[in-house]
Amino acid sequence: MNLPRLTIIDDEADLVDFIGLIAEQVNFDVEKYLDANLFMKNYQFDSDVIVLDLMMPNVDGIEVIRYLANAHCKAQLVLISGFDQSILHSAQELAKEQNLNFYGCLSKPFRAHELSEFLSNLTILPQNSPNEDLAHSPSIDEVRTAITNHELIMYYQPKIELSNPLNFSVEALVRWQHPKRGLLNPDSFIPLSEEYNLIDDMTWEILNLVLAQTQKWAAQKLFIKTAVNMSAVTLKDLNLPKKIMTLMQQYHLEPSQIVLEVTETALMEELIKSLEILTRLRMKGFELSIDDFGTGYSSLVQLHRIPFSELKIDASFVANMDQDAESLAIVETVILLGHKLGMKVVAEGVESKNNLMKLKNMNCDITQGYYNCRPQSADDITQWYMHQHV
Ligand code: C2E
Ligand code: CA
Ligand code: CA
Repeated sequence: MNLPRLTIIDDEADLVDFIGLIAEQVNFDVEKYLDANLFMKNYQFDSDVIVLDLMMPNVDGIEVIRYLANAHCKAQLVLISGFDQSILHSAQELAKEQNLNFYGCLSKPFRAHELSEFLSNLTILPQNSPNEDLAHSPSIDEVRTAITNHELIMYYQPKIELSNPLNFSVEALVRWQHPKRGLLNPDSFIPLSEEYNLIDDMTWEILNLVLAQTQKWAAQKLFIKTAVNMSAVTLKDLNLPKKIMTLMQQYHLEPSQIVLEVTETALMEELIKSLEILTRLRMKGFELSIDDFGTGYSSLVQLHRIPFSELKIDASFVANMDQDAESLAIVETVILLGHKLGMKVVAEGVESKNNLMKLKNMNCDITQGYYNCRPQSADDITQWYMHQHV
């Protein structure tokens, strides 16, 4: 089997050799460029990983990022820099915005064991699928079939109270159990469904699955409150409150058992309409949660006008809290803001105990993330729930 390939672009020869040596130790086939122009002239797009120094003479790393993006490069990108964190962070955002596979940042200086661990944790993404049919993303026809054939399933992830970890609710996250491709994440089919007007059908399928499960949990006396994600497109339907209430009655559920999560960007699209719909849903007793907070552009006035009961700080700020003083400041400030506006604050993407403790000290109310529990099937969550309550 061929070894995965790693390309290093950096003008510092010593550093290139150092990275090269470690990469070879963790079984990469290494290619080195000391000159970014030479890289852009000769690169064959055959690497699995590209390690790029942001600061080089003549060409800067940002120019290389643009070059890779224009060529739709599929390699995973690792950025290195001796700069302050905010520059590394902006470059990272740029790489993500341009749809590059950004893997992580390394700030100089780093030690051999840190680099070795960092590179060993990389999962090599398949560059070419052996089956042509599966090599590209699912088509809209496949998504349509998925809905009618009931191939969508729900995973659930706990949202746990920091002051009392026995108190938690769950968020429902859709998955597609594709007959050939395996289990697919929502990013590969939700945006497509939104674009091709399938999202309403999909939302109703999802709501049926989620409400059926919530009813089942209630019957088992588990009383798990469930959050469900609402697409911006669905929020433009003025009949939504009525339709949801009819469905709730079918499942004998009270609105207080359901939290509706709406992303901050969704609100911006048609504010007046969504404002009316959300207010009516809140009046009926549903809890409303503002999702991915910090990634959109909502003003404080808008935030105040919609009766949200919960605010979820976007995972990107939480994930960067350790290395990046700005992210830490944002998390801290958003918690204060949420509390001032009378909302519970949830931190998403909590992956370490260290982050959990930091959030607790900042008076965050609820955490959600891999550290506590990954999203999993309803049965696995039930087991998990039982285990927590013994
Ligand atoms: P979201 O609502 O912000 O959901 C949280 C995402 O973060 C989930 O990704 C979850 O698996 C992931 N996550 C949870 N803990 C961690 C962690 O500690 N670290 C990291 N890196 N990630 C974590 P998922 O399930 O792939 O969903 C992605 C997005 O797709 C969701 O973001 C939501 O916007 C959308 N989505 C998911 N399910 C539905 C649905 O049923 N309907 C609609 N309309 N959108 C959905
Ligand atoms: Ca969500
Ligand atoms: Ca979110």
